[in-house]
Amino acid sequence: MQTWQKLLKKSLTTAEEVAEVFGLNLESVRAISAKFKIRINPYYLGLIKTKDDPIYKQVVPDIRELESGVCTDDPLAEDPDSPVPGIVHRYPDRVLFLVSHECASYCRFCTRKRMVGDIKKMNPRFIEDGIEYIRSHPEIRDVIVSGGDPLLLADSRLDAILGALRAIPHVEIIRIGTRVPCFLPQRVTKNLVRVFKKYHPLYINVHFNHPDEITDEARRALGMLADAGIPLGCQTVLLKGVNDDPAVMRRLMQKLLAARVRPYYIYQADMISGTDHLRTRVEAGLEIIKEGLRGWTSGLAVPHFVIDSPGGGGKIPLLPSYIESITDKEVVLRNYEGKRHVYLQPSEQPNVKQPAPAAGSAPAAPAKKAARAAAPARPAWAAIGR
Ligand code: SF4
Repeated sequence: MQTWQKLLKKSLTTAEEVAEVFGLNLESVRAISAKFKIRINPYYLGLIKTKDDPIYKQVVPDIRELESGVCTDDPLAEDPDSPVPGIVHRYPDRVLFLVSHECASYCRFCTRKRMVGDIKKMNPRFIEDGIEYIRSHPEIRDVIVSGGDPLLLADSRLDAILGALRAIPHVEIIRIGTRVPCFLPQRVTKNLVRVFKKYHPLYINVHFNHPDEITDEARRALGMLADAGIPLGCQTVLLKGVNDDPAVMRRLMQKLLAARVRPYYIYQADMISGTDHLRTRVEAGLEIIKEGLRGWTSGLAVPHFVIDSPGGGGKIPLLPSYIESITDKEVVLRNYEGKRHVYLQPSEQPNVKQPAPAAGSAPAAPAKKAARAAAPARPAWAAIGR
């Protein structure tokens, strides 16, 4: 058994274990675990410094998970867009392919809280049908392999899935969505990387939500993936009490970039049953972009802030406004410090035709040439400093 498998085996998974370790009410934790899966592996558990800190909040169950408020089980309407189990086909040229029901720990805010950890809902038997669906739809050029977490599958299983996808001529891009480099970086082994290297162009989107998650182990795992030539992006979820602070989010984005990961999205938390207590107002995300990221740090460290629109409308980017006014003549802008700047629009005048040269006169271009020839030669130093 490999290190990561041993770690996984030692996870807290039962209501009894979790209630005892965190001093929680057993009946409450039992009620939560009857509805939503719990797993906290020892590596991630070790990152918790105090009760209710940003790491704790992501994985330790909370009694408020039993309240739904305005939230629902499938607000993104993935189920109606699923032509066969395990496939979500919403956009014209790409599909989401759910290949694993398990995760290295279970996030309390998970978008697929209704199904993660449930082998009946994400069954390995669905994989063949999923591959067949992709094979028979030539319009699919991009496959996002997700779950659960695909990296919880054995290397040989991943090899077989990626090999089958790569053998489909119309699949140009394979992407993997995983939280393993954050939750269980020990899973990124030399052999796993060897498997991945066979299937370029392969992209991996990781998932980190707080700067304390970028540990030496995480950096090592990310470095191995990057060394294998895999472009790495990060999808972060905006969460109350975890990262809803411009300084925390800026630190996270800077640490990701230094660990060779390009921040890709910050998601407004979805309206998922059992996660209402972790959602922020949308203004919090806009403020993070405006007061913490855009202009305040490298542009490479500034992801898109998006809402995955309820009802299945796809991702919609959200931007703070930097434009004060636009007229035919100018655009008035405010920069990241709130200073006013004016950009002048191009002139709308129609192209003015040069009058035709009078009969007998020399054409314009040769005249310019002659004038240049008559001018004294420019000394070499005249070009310096231009
Ligand atoms: S790792 Fe991803 S799929 Fe798994 S529980 Fe967390 S958010 Fe959900």
